[in-house]
Amino acid sequence: MNVRLPLVEPFARDHTYCTYCPKLCRDLCPVSTAQGRETTTPWGKMSLLHHAATGRPALGDQSPDVDPLAPSYAATFWACTGCMRCKTGCEHDNEVAAALGAGRAEAYTRGAAPASAVAFVARSAARLERSVSAANEVFGADALDPSAPVAFFPGCTAVVTAPEDARAGLFATKALCARKVGVEARGCCGLPWLFAGDHDGFVKAARTNATRLSRHELVVASDPGCAHAMRDIYRMHGIALRARVLHLTELAGAELARLRRTTPDGPVRYHDACHLGRGLGVYDAPRNVLARLTGRAPEEMPHARARAECTGGGGLLPITDPRTADDIAAERMRDHARAGAGTLVTGCPTARRRLERAGATAVDLAGWIARAL
Ligand code: SF4
Ligand code: SF4
Repeated sequence: MNVRLPLVEPFARDHTYCTYCPKLCRDLCPVSTAQGRETTTPWGKMSLLHHAATGRPALGDQSPDVDPLAPSYAATFWACTGCMRCKTGCEHDNEVAAALGAGRAEAYTRGAAPASAVAFVARSAARLERSVSAANEVFGADALDPSAPVAFFPGCTAVVTAPEDARAGLFATKALCARKVGVEARGCCGLPWLFAGDHDGFVKAARTNATRLSRHELVVASDPGCAHAMRDIYRMHGIALRARVLHLTELAGAELARLRRTTPDGPVRYHDACHLGRGLGVYDAPRNVLARLTGRAPEEMPHARARAECTGGGGLLPITDPRTADDIAAERMRDHARAGAGTLVTGCPTARRRLERAGATAVDLAGWIARAL
């Protein structure tokens, strides 16, 4: 069997190198670690992708008769949070998450996506309607201002699950920019479609968003997933967004002198969210902000910065495999407890939610930045 997978073709080098690799990143993947399965190591997933793209089974004992694009096999492409941690152990800088995303898209168009991902896409219109209506309640329907030089992009997760953080993000953006700021909450950044495997849905959402946001000079996003999508992932898919894109912690990190000291109770530990750290390369700004707010450098998780561990909330894993996603979050809680507990602060609404669900006292830095202004 050898079918053409156009979306996977740009990743031919990546899946070939992985297939013949002695699994150097095997201990870095939160999914395979939580599941204890070889199949969901980056090597396992990329070998299956290699098989799908070339028709050649990986080394090992896979039968040449296996169809890697049959739903039971293709589901493996969804066993990834998109955390990019494997990349930090890879000599070749392999793009495992993006390659698996392309595999998802090819499987999706062949009707081989997991039922949960397909159902998620079917609920997209209702999900978007809910998020737009939540944003109207949080900011007021007249907060949209396409003529403002700065747009604040709160992201769907914060407006629906943490409206107070979304409001704080707008307050902080206005105070830090000292320019006219409009809210852009009419659409989703598109990542959920990409993670589900609906490539066309992602491209449509990203193009709409890019057109709307290109009217502004600067876009400030409080969700690192949205910021990473708009700054880098759109470009990888040939979609141009002309405005400069910053995450809120980058904006605050450049204006430290404007932040007042606050005094939170107990130890404060910083968790690097995947899209903010490995995605956007933002490690120092949130730490500098926390040091300014509390008067001391934040405590660290056992693995921090580029090697920081994932909370299991990305890549649609909480939808396609909630048990593994919860196991990953529970492991982060154990890390946090072993390191001395306290308040966990992160720059990501999804990570905050995952950590809170797992039992942590978790805070989105947006709220603390707003309080310090
Ligand atoms: S990502 Fe790099 S280290 Fe990991 S399996 Fe692939 S080639 Fe090996
Ligand atoms: S991106 Fe993260 S979840 Fe996906 S294969 Fe790499 S380490 Fe595993």
